[in-house]
Parts: sequence; structure tokens; C-alpha cells
Amino acid sequence: MLHGYRGRWAPSPTGHMHLGNARTAIVAWLAARSSRGKLIWRSEDLDTARVRPGLEEAAMADLEWLGLDWDEGPRLGGDHGPYVQSERSRKYQEALDSLAGSGSLYPCGLSRSQIADVASAPHGSTAPFPQTLRARNIASDWWDRHRQSDGAHAIRFKVQDETVSFTDLVHGRCTDHVSSTCGDFVVRRRDGVMAYQLAVVVDDIAMSVTHVVRGDDIRASTGRQILLYKALGATPPAFAHVPLVLDCKREKLSKRHESLRLAALRENGVEPQQIIGYLAYSCGLTESPRRHVIADLVANFNWSRISHDPWVLPDESRLISGLLDL
Ligand code: GLU
Repeated sequence: MLHGYRGRWAPSPTGHMHLGNARTAIVAWLAARSSRGKLIWRSEDLDTARVRPGLEEAAMADLEWLGLDWDEGPRLGGDHGPYVQSERSRKYQEALDSLAGSGSLYPCGLSRSQIADVASAPHGSTAPFPQTLRARNIASDWWDRHRQSDGAHAIRFKVQDETVSFTDLVHGRCTDHVSSTCGDFVVRRRDGVMAYQLAVVVDDIAMSVTHVVRGDDIRASTGRQILLYKALGATPPAFAHVPLVLDCKREKLSKRHESLRLAALRENGVEPQQIIGYLAYSCGLTESPRRHVIADLVANFNWSRISHDPWVLPDESRLISGLLDL
């Protein structure tokens, strides 16, 4: 799709931007710009216990330093705002009303340990929510009583016995039999906080997002999200899950990796062109690691070039000297 591409970048302001976030953001930006599309910034701040003040501004400053821009977002505004999830509760409530009206939801007052007592999983995997625990014979007016959180019940979405499939722009055909991998999932937590799965789908529909480009750690959620799209009567967007950046011990980058934050690299004298060049090479967009400004890479962007595998970083000192040498 050349015209009408609407992509989004949806960070949670819970940690500083590191090389892994930057790599996904670069790909999301290149995908949008090479399609002459729009890019939206959406702040996913629903998990208030983990949100830290100032991180959204810091993330924006980091990406601007790399040369990225966006067309709609917090502060910038746009026709599809607000762009901060904590300001979008009414939209989520309307979606819950619609899902409850079509019989897709039910209240669940079970604790984690009550669920774990019944659930069983093959060694090493997480057990799906057991169907036998699905609330039955609920009164027809249950939603009137549960519309507001009562602090005792989560709201779950009923997953049917079906296989969901989608064509990922990086990984090709992906399938998920959600009732075996996850089972009925929570769309509103018992404390009243909307679950990520619901909020992300409601927002991507409301913001007319056509392409979801995000980290590969979220690929496992996509099946659930497609079920929500269908239940809300909407067509799912295209999905692209960008393989992760791992540290030299092959662990996912996280807040622990302070030295791999963009701000820390900047303080070490690394320049944006070095980071762009290194990350573009790491995901297969260039033949060799050389300095680049991001605009250089637009013309040759193509999903078929994006590597399917995670990128494993060398140890920190080799990484930094390698970046400085570019
Ligand atoms: N907010 C999520 C994160 O920061 C991204 C969710 C998404 O892109 O769907 O990891």
C-alpha cells in the first residue's frame, strides 16, 4: 500500500530507550516513510505502577537525536487523539460495552493460585486459562453490575476453539490456537486497569492504523489481538515483528542494561549516524556497517531484507569501540 499507510510507535514510558527499542523504531520509521505514510506516537502508560515521569520526553529526545520524526502524537496533536492511553478510558469502556453486549466477556473473581491449581502445562510453558473455569450461567444483567470495576473481578474474553493466522511482514505465515496457548484472557484487570491487549486494539482501530511494526517479543500477543479485532467488527492491520537485540549472553535488553541506553551511548561520544548505520546493518538493510543518516535508508527499505533472527551484541566495550570506529 503506497498511500494511506498509517504506522505507529507505541512505547510504554517505563524505561529508557536502548539499542533494541531504537532498532524497532528505526524499522517502523523507515517502513512508514518508504511508503510515504504517516507515523503516530502513542504513549502506552496504562500500567501506572511502572510508568516513570520524564521517560516519555526522554524517549522522544532520544529518537529525535537519531533523526526520527512523527506526524501525530502527544503534544503534537492530530485528528486521532488523545495519544496517551490514560486519557482514552472512554474508548476502552465503549469497546467493553460492545464486547459484553455480544456475549464475549464474563467476570472472573478467581485468584492466580485458584487458577494455577486447575491449570496444567507441559514443562517450561505457561498454562492456558482452563476452559472449565469459565463463568457459566451468568445473569443477563451482569455487565450492568460489573461495568465499573468492583475490585474483586477481572473481565475475561471468551476464546473460541479456532486457529488464528496472519502473515507477518518479517516472519511470513504465523498461526496461534489461542485457546491452547493462552485461553480466555483478561481485558480489564480487577483493579479496573484496561489490559494492554484491549487498549492496543481499540487504539489501533480508532487511529486507523494500517501497519503495526513492533518488537518480536509481542508476536505471541497478536493472535489474541486478532480475535479482539474480529469481535469488534474491525479488520486487523498488517503486522511486522522486528527480531530483538540481545546482549552478549543472549538476554533480552532491559532496564538493567544501562550502558546500552541511547543516552549512555551518546555520553560516550557515539554519534547518531554510527547508531543508525550499525542498527541498519544489524537488521539486514545495508551490506556493511557504515555511518548513515536515516534518510539515506528510505529508498532501499524493503521488508524482504529484514533479518528473521535476533541480533546478538558483542560485549559492551567491543560494542562501544566498534560504534566509535564506524
Ligand atoms: N507498549 C508496548 C511496549 O512498549 C508496545 C506495544 C505494541 O507496539 O503493540 O513494549
